[in-house]
Amino acid sequence: MGLLVLGTPLDWPESEKFHNYVRENGIKQFLHMYDSFISKKQDVLLWGDEIEYIVVSMNDKEKTARVSLRQEEILKALGDYEERFKHVDFSPIYAALKNTSCPKRTNAMLSEAAGNPAAFVERLVKENHTYSKNETTPFRAQFVVPTFHPEYGRYMLESTPGAPYGSVLKDFLFVEFNMLLRRKIIENYLLPHEHPLTITNFFRLGTDHFTDPETKADGSISRSFFLPDDVINTHVRFPTLTANIRQRRQRKVAMNVPIFFDKNTHKPFRDPTIPWNRDLYPEDKNAKEGAALENHIYMDSMGFGMGCCCLQITFQAKNCDEARLLYDQLIPITPLMLALSAGTPAFRGYLADQDCRWNVIAGAVDDRTKSEMEYIPKSRYDSVDMYISNDPRNLQEYNDIPVVVNEGCYEQLIKGGIDERLSKHMAHIFARDPLVIFSDNIQQDNSMSNGHFENLNSTNWQSMRFKPPPLNSSVGWRVEFRSMEIQFTEFENAAYSIFVVMLSRAILSFNLNFYMPISLVDENMVAAQARDAIHQKKFWFRCNPFPNAEDPEERGRYRQLSLDEIFGGERTEEGFPGLVQIVRSYLYSCNPDAETLCSLDRYLRLISQRASGECMTAASWIRKFITTHPLYKQDSVVSSEINFDLVKRITSIINGEHDEDLFGNCRC
Ligand code: ADP
Ligand code: MG
Ligand code: MG
Ligand code: MG
Repeated sequence: MGLLVLGTPLDWPESEKFHNYVRENGIKQFLHMYDSFISKKQDVLLWGDEIEYIVVSMNDKEKTARVSLRQEEILKALGDYEERFKHVDFSPIYAALKNTSCPKRTNAMLSEAAGNPAAFVERLVKENHTYSKNETTPFRAQFVVPTFHPEYGRYMLESTPGAPYGSVLKDFLFVEFNMLLRRKIIENYLLPHEHPLTITNFFRLGTDHFTDPETKADGSISRSFFLPDDVINTHVRFPTLTANIRQRRQRKVAMNVPIFFDKNTHKPFRDPTIPWNRDLYPEDKNAKEGAALENHIYMDSMGFGMGCCCLQITFQAKNCDEARLLYDQLIPITPLMLALSAGTPAFRGYLADQDCRWNVIAGAVDDRTKSEMEYIPKSRYDSVDMYISNDPRNLQEYNDIPVVVNEGCYEQLIKGGIDERLSKHMAHIFARDPLVIFSDNIQQDNSMSNGHFENLNSTNWQSMRFKPPPLNSSVGWRVEFRSMEIQFTEFENAAYSIFVVMLSRAILSFNLNFYMPISLVDENMVAAQARDAIHQKKFWFRCNPFPNAEDPEERGRYRQLSLDEIFGGERTEEGFPGLVQIVRSYLYSCNPDAETLCSLDRYLRLISQRASGECMTAASWIRKFITTHPLYKQDSVVSSEINFDLVKRITSIINGEHDEDLFGNCRC
């Protein structure tokens, strides 16, 4: 969520006076960074994931599952943990885990390790569990204490590996353990009835009694009918963001997700839980005046989107050009991975006729006024609008949708020596207003700070993000892959992350070309969110991504394929061999040892089987659980009891229980 600075945020009318100042200086900061780092080169791939959690509080007696609002306390304890154990070398833990094939024992060991790693490591060293230095890359991310971050919801947490992973195949073997260790550490600081769940959204967010402790939806910050301000992270940045988006937009945000019509769902569906006649704030009229649509689940607050969890991957490229190419090549992959990771079939206690969070979160931070909506086509949270590489394969015709830019910033960038494409990209990012300005942080030394630049870059939440190097660090040019929904288990999250990382390696090493008109990527983005997209939708795809672009015939060959055909291959001689096969070829080209191959193969099998429908997506699985629950009344309602049982079941799956529908024979 960007850097958290302390200080006093300006209210919206006050902050408007500084928008141009922030933009102009943000561009100066970018130019300074660009000039300092354009010749910066890194030889190695580094990458890291971000995992987000919803902390759920269970009450077995009352059979309720609610979101726990203890983020602050939990993060404080986790911060102390990081501090206490930052000097511990975790490598013996992984050495010991590597020799354990039993999931129960792995779980038990990680729980013990999470509690007091120093003591645990001491014991392991005595038992001779160690790694020799040449077995691992010099980065040793896996051996560093993980880090934990705040997120928008006061029931949310985020964790990262602590330091980025390296590029050696063997490093992939640690990813799942590292993720599991992170969950165990978190569990260590929760109350016995709390669980850190990696689910995209909380199924009953914004219904009655969904928080622990109990809160009321009457706050002046979001003015929501459903979400109390108490669910917002208390750091002043978050309430300010929420209020400023509402004020800028001159009304509440409004997301309408089509309801899933079941046998007993009232048709037309006019949501009885909307307090149509509330009269607390001027915005209360919004719903009646057209913001809340019939036959839809209406949501009116930033938290419905920013309160969702996702899985993000950041890669470091060799240099700026490679980062730009990677950014472009991964753009067409974002909707595909969104569809494959779909995990959000229910909102605000209702089953939806879609499977993903994406359009909800896009709406949740959409700060455009009514008149801006006529000429600014997208929210600041949405799919990427343009390719940015100067690679000759990036044809002008692929950039076929409007890109709104700030003309002043564009001029400033061009004058500063930035090429047209990158200038346009940055001027596009800078077409938005800075959402939060801290009064004590306006004056910045542009050669020492990148605060104004980050203010805009980190509040344009697109499906890919181009991250220039931060000042005063060894970190290089990076790109972030941002479309995926979080999965229940570490096994799945590791599989999805590693798949995208290996695909990015394959793209570079085989010089693959996935370019296609960006309007088609946008069409795919819509298809990806559909209910059961795996079986119901086809996706535009460039079927010959191999380097023979000289042949004009090969250009512009995009066809609509199912996800099974895209991932698993077209099963015809001439057809596309499938992304999984491409990743496999890359894997073989690295000469993996048998252990690595076997381990990574589980991940590739999961990806193939999800794409073919042999294994269910989390969304289909959740939907099935709800619709086959004995208490479900075929009325689209996810009742409190169903919600409780669903959370219980997910918790046991996380803790190792097998589920044939989700994993087939892949998770062993
Ligand atoms: P944000 O929230 O801004 O997207 P985070 O700091 O939460 O970023 O996560 C960034 C991810 O990038 C982490 O997994 C981290 O390990 C990883 N990372 C850190 N440094 C590098 C680097 N030099 N190259 C690639 N990834 C990195
Ligand atoms: Mg996050
Ligand atoms: Mg983060
Ligand atoms: Mg991120």
